[in-house]
Amino acid sequence: MRKPEGIEMKEKMVDEGLLFKNRVMLLSQTFFIKDNQAELLSCAHKYDFDILFFDQMRDFVAAAQADDGDDLFVIDLDVLYNMQDDMQHSRKQTMFLSDLLQRLPTRHSYVYLQTVRQGERFLLQQRLVDSNCMAYAEKPIANDVLVDKLFTLFARHKRGEPNTIVYLGERALLDPVLLAAHQVELLQHKDAQTLHLQVKDVQPDIVVIEDAQYLRTEAVVRVLKKNIEADPSREIIMLQSEPDPVLARRAFDSGFDEILIVTDADVLTRQLLNRIDKIRVNKDLISRDRATGLLNKVGLQKKAQDAIRRAARDGLPLAYGIIDIDKFKTINDTWGHYFGDIVIKRLSLVLSAQVGARDLLSRFGGEEFVVLFWDCPAARAQQRLDAMRQAFCDISFEVSPSDRRHFSFSGGVAAYPACRTENELFLHADQMLYQAKESGRNRICMSS
Ligand code: GH3
Ligand code: MG
Ligand code: MG
Repeated sequence: MRKPEGIEMKEKMVDEGLLFKNRVMLLSQTFFIKDNQAELLSCAHKYDFDILFFDQMRDFVAAAQADDGDDLFVIDLDVLYNMQDDMQHSRKQTMFLSDLLQRLPTRHSYVYLQTVRQGERFLLQQRLVDSNCMAYAEKPIANDVLVDKLFTLFARHKRGEPNTIVYLGERALLDPVLLAAHQVELLQHKDAQTLHLQVKDVQPDIVVIEDAQYLRTEAVVRVLKKNIEADPSREIIMLQSEPDPVLARRAFDSGFDEILIVTDADVLTRQLLNRIDKIRVNKDLISRDRATGLLNKVGLQKKAQDAIRRAARDGLPLAYGIIDIDKFKTINDTWGHYFGDIVIKRLSLVLSAQVGARDLLSRFGGEEFVVLFWDCPAARAQQRLDAMRQAFCDISFEVSPSDRRHFSFSGGVAAYPACRTENELFLHADQMLYQAKESGRNRICMSS
């Protein structure tokens, strides 16, 4: 273990600002902030972002100008009303709006909160959407709904893991450079009879098939779809050189989800990128925990099964570790549920910092996490989990101004190929976790 990195990480953990992955800057009136701050923060933290509140336009503009990260900027338009002189209602308001829009740096996009009355004025809407507006929301809007919507915007703009399109055909009808710029990998495949193997191997989000290929091998989509392990959310799209309703009908009946007419590479690529955006949002909703951004149980299961398949193919060992925070009920009962959430969040950061690129990390349940170590024998996994345990124990939590506490977790490890399935790995690791708890907690036990 290289020591300097560990120390640096620990220092970062002390900085509350880095506890959450994303940040929102919110410009609103003082009374709105006073009434909503606590609730907004507690909702936001469950979605892995923090909120900085501003009630002065100049401070907000300064923050936006200084910011070169991926923060989201939210502006409550009522701030403009509050600043206006009552005598000259609309003129003053327009002036402030122009002023604001002019001063906000154009490299960011902005979210506007407005009243229904403002929303009814199309010219105002037009003005806003043409000024780096990422989205607008109508008030009144419940705090949890606002937070949920902001989270979706983050999800849209943050790139996670890359997505994959498999293309069956001879022609180059997509733009690989534009795809790569959006973190989409394009794999061209030329043989319809081995397409199902390629799809099984790389698990693409979209499969694109040229009509000529379909005409030659009509069973191609049925073979993909009837596999009981096929991902039902995967889209299979046919590219048709020109409209042909008879062929289209047959293609839909055989399982294609969509037919696109061939235009130019740029248009087709954009069509697919928009689809990938939707697929990303849905995938995250289904397979990720919002509070930590880690895989949830569903997400882990799918990826763990893939990992086991690959480990079997390549003859590599895997190790499956379960982690459960010790005496977490007492933490909740003593310092409150909100504090408990912060402890979970910090643990997720400790674990994230120590897993490798090919390992899987999941928030499996409330205060339980799973790590799947790729190409790692059990003894090594035990050491690595133990290093994580030590790093978590080292964090000092300030429970009240002069009271700092340390917490711990216990863990259990099981290994592939000794355990052959994901379920078997879970059961054995869970038994080992039980043993760790029984024998005094704050330790990692390994299936022998
Ligand atoms: P042990 O050392 O045996 O694990 O004791 P424990 O108190 O941690 O026992 P257990 O694992 O059964 O308790 C888990 C508790 O975690 C129960 C539940 O109320 C709490 N919990 C589950 N999810 C969350 C969450 O998201 N946030 C908070 N704050 N608490 C949660
Ligand atoms: Mg538990
Ligand atoms: Mg526990």
